[in-house]
Order: sequence, then C-alpha cells, then structure tokens
Amino acid sequence: MSGAASPVALSGAAQATAARVVRERGPRELFCGLTGIVWLHRKMQDAFFLVIGSRTCAHLIQSAAGVMIFSEPRFATAILQDRDLAGLADANEELDRVVARLLERRPDIKALFLVGSCPSEVIKLDLEQAAARLSQQYLPRVRVLSYSGSGIETSFTQGEDNCLRSLVPLLPSSDARNLLVVGCLPDVVEDQLARLLEAMGVGPVHFLPGRDTALLPTVGPNTSFLLAQPFDTETARALMTRGARHLPAPHPFGVAGTRDWLAAAARDFGIDKARFDAVVRAPMTRASAAVARVAQRLRGRRVAFLPDSGLEPSLARFLHSECGMELVEVGVPYLDGQFAAAEIAQLPAGVDVVEGQHVERQLDRIRSARPDLTVCGLGIANPLEAEGLASKWSIELVFSPVHGFEQAADLAELFARPLARLERLEI
Ligand code: SF4
Repeated sequence: MSGAASPVALSGAAQATAARVVRERGPRELFCGLTGIVWLHRKMQDAFFLVIGSRTCAHLIQSAAGVMIFSEPRFATAILQDRDLAGLADANEELDRVVARLLERRPDIKALFLVGSCPSEVIKLDLEQAAARLSQQYLPRVRVLSYSGSGIETSFTQGEDNCLRSLVPLLPSSDARNLLVVGCLPDVVEDQLARLLEAMGVGPVHFLPGRDTALLPTVGPNTSFLLAQPFDTETARALMTRGARHLPAPHPFGVAGTRDWLAAAARDFGIDKARFDAVVRAPMTRASAAVARVAQRLRGRRVAFLPDSGLEPSLARFLHSECGMELVEVGVPYLDGQFAAAEIAQLPAGVDVVEGQHVERQLDRIRSARPDLTVCGLGIANPLEAEGLASKWSIELVFSPVHGFEQAADLAELFARPLARLERLEI
C-alpha cells in the first residue's frame, strides 16, 4: 500500500487545468454504498431495497434512515446467519423464502433491489443470478434487480451509481430523440429543472431515476444525457454502451454551474441564445443576489475537502468562483477524467485535487493548514471539531436539495452555518 501522492494524467480538458490532480492511496474512512438507499427509496416510490447482509448492515441502514413508524418501510435487511456464512445453509433458498414472504405482504412493490454487502460478497453469493431467477418468477408484477452496496468496493455515493447502472439494461431501445438527466434528485428540484428545460424547448426530458420504476425512459443513438450527480459515472458509461451521448458540462451546483449545465442541453437541442437567455434571466438574477448575500460570510475564508461524496470538485468550483472562498485541498474518492473535466478545468492554479485517500496524511495536512472549514465524512468531523476546526458533513450535501438556481443560496448557506456556529462558540 503506498501513501505517496502521485500526479495523475486526465483526459481532455482536465489536462489543461491549472489545478494539479494527484492520487493518494492508504487507509480510507468512508461510508459504504448501502447509505444510498436512504435517498433512493424516497425517490423511487414503488421500489423496495432488500440488503443481503449482516446485523452491522441492518444497524447502518436503520440508523441512517431512521425508523419509519407510521408508514411501511421500503428497505430491510435479510440477515445472513452464521450457518449461511459458514456455507452450511443454502443462502439462495433462504433468500427465495424471504422474497416470497415480502412480496406476498407488500403488493405495492413494483421493483425489488437485492443489495449486496460485504458479507454477501465474502461468501460469493451471486445476487445477479438470484435476481434473474426471481425476476422470471415474479415478472410482470415485480422486477427484481441487484447491485452492490458493499464497503469493500464502494464509497457511499457509488451505491446510487451501482443502483442506476442496474437499471440501464432494462431501458427500452428507441431511435427517438430525448434528453436523460442522470442522478437522484429531490422531486422539487426535478420539477424546477424540468420546467426550465421545457420552457427553452428542450425535450422530451426524462429523469433517471424517476418516481415510477415501471415507466423507464427509452435510450438509443438519439439520446443525449446530462449528469446531475457527478458520481454516477458507471451509469454514464453503461448509457454510452447503449448509444447515448454524454453532454460535457459542469454539474448544476450554484448559479454558473446550473447555467452552463442547462446551456449544454440547449446547445445540443439547437435552442437559440435569445430564447435560452430569456428563460434563465429571472431565476439567475434572483439566485445571484441570494448567493451574494451569503457569500459575504464566506469570502476569503479557507475551505478543504476530504474525499467522501464525489461532489467535491463541483462544490469547490462553486465555493471558489461564486462565494470567493480559498481552496486548500480538494479530495475526491475517485475521478473519472471524462466526466470531471469540465469541473476541474475551472479550479484555480495551485490547488491539489487529491484522488483517493490516505486519511492520516490528509488529516496531518489539515491540521497543519488549519482551514476555516473542512468538508468531510461524519467520522472525521467530530475529532476535527474537538481540535477547534469547523467541519461540514459531506453526506448532508447529498441528502439536501442543493441543485439548481433556486437552491444555490441554500447550498452556500450550508457552508456558512458551521463557520457561524464556531464563531458563536468562540465568543
Ligand atoms: S456493507 Fe460492509 S461496510 Fe456496509 S454496513 Fe455492511 S458490513 Fe459494514
């Protein structure tokens, strides 16, 4: 295991960037991909997520998502027992029984995701095959899919990416022209972005994931797509193998990010500039004024990102260019040069984008640089706070509505709040 940071070659525009991309390997401290269930189950309202895992997995999901007392939960854990782990019981038979019981009790479920975990991967339980077998049994009523949320190979947002990628082979093929927006968005944000795209004449527009898993969008050579979540890169690659075209753009965080993201769609659909400007002028003016008010509290402050969500380059770009913050270091759990290029190209000279993690070395650098704010995982935040370093949980940025013009000031406010809290504590 090497902890040394080494420069990385990125393709396309990223090579021309002034920010240096380096790679670091060593001990990591990240949530696993099961966490994605927390926001995926809210979005896909007819889906159920069945984790095949241990009591630890069940505790993680239960504490991350809270206990739903008044509604039927849409996630659960089928706990692998010692006999399963020791290979003494047929885990597939047990899984079939659990699924049969679940689907009998819950006729509302239209899509069932079998979610792999560290224990299911260690005993090499083939969930893809199990999903195919169960699909044959339960289609057309229920579609059974599988993906990995294991912490062995995923960081927490890769759970979403793996889930969406599992849907791609099911998208009906078509030559029809359409735009796909890829990434799990709160309904309110989806509606805002859909309204803007429709007003400028871009369409038809489909969102992946949508609210109804039975209504999957079509894909083919006349499909173009935009990433709303920068970390959905495997889904993007799977869409490209189905003939879809990626539209390179920054991601829709902040005023400029949202404008450029929408502009990429407008260009691709041949929308003239006057119409585009007319649609975005009012929301941009409102959002710029709202961000400027919050930026007064952020300007000149120093921010560091530890690798966690995969949103880091986009957020760093927003905080630097629209809020006047100084970037100390931008950690990111992994980078796909093709999809990250438009963001990294906008980061300033002298900043290191650090892909991967050696948590101890990164913490040493944070302690020595003492930024005003460190954006990091939950496990790292408390020790930093105890040392008088303000922190922001990066997972909150995935749970909260932060995309688009209307949320740009809220996004800035999420970073201003911990600074204000620390200042109050210091008085
Ligand atoms: S999938 Fe792995 S890392 Fe995640 S809760 Fe289960 S055992 Fe822990």
